[in-house]
Amino acid sequence: MKFFEPEIQEYIASDSPPEVLIVDDSSVIRRAIANRLQIGGLRVKQAADGKQALSQIYAAPPDLVLLDIVMPGMDGMEVLKIVRQSLSKLQLPVILVTSRTSTRELVRGLDEGANDYITKPVDFDLLWARLSNQIMQKKAAEYMNAVKNKLETEVRQRTRELHENNKILQQEIHEKRLIEKKLQRQANYDVLTGLPNRNLATDRLEQTLIKAKREKLKPSVVFVDLDNFKYVNDTLGHAAGDDLLKEAAIRLIDCVRESDTVARLGGDEFLLILDDINNQSGNPRELDLKIIGERIIRRFSRSFLLEGQEVNISPSIGFAVYPKDGKDEVALMRHADAAMYRAKNNGKNTFCFYSPEMTAQAKLRMDVETQLHHALERNEFSLVYQPIVEAASGEIVKAEVLLRWNNEMLGMITPDVFIPVAEETGQIVEIGAWVIKTACHQVKHWRNGGWDEMCITVNVSARQFHQDSNLVEAVTTALKTNVLTADALQLELTEGILMRENQYNVAIMQALETLGIKLLVDDFGTGYASLSYLQKYNFDTLKIDYGYIKNILINQQDARLVKAIIAMANSLGLDVVSEGVETREQLDFLIKAHCKYIQGYYFSPPVPAKAFEVLFQKLNSTRATPGSQLLLISSSSHS
Ligand code: C2E
Ligand code: CA
Ligand code: CA
Repeated sequence: MKFFEPEIQEYIASDSPPEVLIVDDSSVIRRAIANRLQIGGLRVKQAADGKQALSQIYAAPPDLVLLDIVMPGMDGMEVLKIVRQSLSKLQLPVILVTSRTSTRELVRGLDEGANDYITKPVDFDLLWARLSNQIMQKKAAEYMNAVKNKLETEVRQRTRELHENNKILQQEIHEKRLIEKKLQRQANYDVLTGLPNRNLATDRLEQTLIKAKREKLKPSVVFVDLDNFKYVNDTLGHAAGDDLLKEAAIRLIDCVRESDTVARLGGDEFLLILDDINNQSGNPRELDLKIIGERIIRRFSRSFLLEGQEVNISPSIGFAVYPKDGKDEVALMRHADAAMYRAKNNGKNTFCFYSPEMTAQAKLRMDVETQLHHALERNEFSLVYQPIVEAASGEIVKAEVLLRWNNEMLGMITPDVFIPVAEETGQIVEIGAWVIKTACHQVKHWRNGGWDEMCITVNVSARQFHQDSNLVEAVTTALKTNVLTADALQLELTEGILMRENQYNVAIMQALETLGIKLLVDDFGTGYASLSYLQKYNFDTLKIDYGYIKNILINQQDARLVKAIIAMANSLGLDVVSEGVETREQLDFLIKAHCKYIQGYYFSPPVPAKAFEVLFQKLNSTRATPGSQLLLISSSSHS
């Protein structure tokens, strides 16, 4: 049997040979046909009438039925009709065998569902061709069906697997989402405080501004920077610093409404985004912000408990209001930052509103910070010396060393501008060491030249009193390399250093005392140092702040205070220097009040070493060693 498609042929070959049911009432015909089909390799069954045919078909359907139309009893047409009720043309092909040639009969047969027909007497070649064709179609359909079923099973199986995989996948997706969420938190939130970070804060500000533009609102941006945070980190350690930041975050959140944003920008810098509260309170914006500024300062006035110590940390706050102080987030943030710096310059623990002139100031500060990095290596620093004169004799006994910075880009920058920056960046440590070294070198020259008792006082910042600032080492090295005794150098400390008393600065003060270095309290009266502090740390001298001296002839209260300070200091055995003395009248007042030492423009402003030598000769002429010697050393002096 020839079929066309090789796959189908293969399919048939794998099966038993097709079976044909021959239905005919004539046994002669049945046998004749059966013979020929068996020779062709087919299996054959026979039925003598319609009933038999049906029972055989229902017992085990053959692959094809050759059905005689004319039979006694149930004729072929009837059989076909019944068969077709349950089996389609493809399920069971039926070829009608008829001696009638009436086309009407054949058409009816085909209508009833016969697949084909053949006329008697049977032309076996034709029968074979028609039969092959039908069986092939049936087998092809079977094959397709089998393939389809197999495919369907496979698909079902695959679907089940997919379903399983999908479940696993869903789980994985869920886990991935959790990780993503965590990563996103890390990308958007500050790990230490849990506050939004700069990323998210900028985003929120952007959103706030979009809304503000639409609804004509006036949100504001607030910069909060903790004063002297570095000090906590340096002296109490990073764990204490972290605790402080966490607590600061809580206090800040406490100061604003829930809808406002409190973010940490990094370090000790916080950003607040305040929605417009104008509409609710009916206050002008500035008044509302003033209330918030005061509230923050009040919250921070309670001391922080860090590592078992009570520490006072104040905030400096800057406000910028949309749209007056900036139309986009960049401008608003920059301007709030500038306002915050102004608050710092105004003495910290306060708040400021942005005003346009601050931008220039902020730019200068930035420039100062950048330029300061190269100042030492570019040799841009120099020292000037201001005489400290003994009131009674009018002779110079000491000189205060003051730092000068001449930058190639910015020109002369005063210490009031660059020292705070250097303190903040920590560069003051290195610069301070340079000042001590250079000043010691200078005083050595002066001593070599014959001013045996010449002594210099050097200013030191709070920052230099930190555990890892190596102040003691800087002093020791400077004295040693210049072969100087400790009485050649005094250090001027501000009250701030005393106020922030802790194990480190106490240890440093004791180490300096052991070296024999005398300590002087600078700007006395501006802070809160009491005279008892001065005794506790063996201070030698106190310097009354310029702010009091300025007013002694104008303000009765200042005059009384200065007199009292001098009297008390004298009774405690402390030397007193009055600084900023500019007039003869001030000098006379101070002499009358028994102030022992005077410093100020009245005698001289701070001057370079050479000019100082000239001055020294003039004032100390009665006591000084020969001037020729002084001129000799001046050529090698440093200024
Ligand atoms: P300070 O220690 O209080 O220094 C005294 C300041 O008053 C100096 O300003 C001095 O030039 C000025 N002065 C002196 N006599 C008079 C006077 O009669 N009238 C007026 N109006 N002013 C007078 P300067 O040199 O600008 O220094 C400013 C501040 O910078 C210093 O204040 C000190 O705190 C800091 N500073 C200067 N050099 C150094 C340094 O080497 N290290 C540290 N840490 N700080 C320094
Ligand atoms: Ca000073
Ligand atoms: Ca001073």
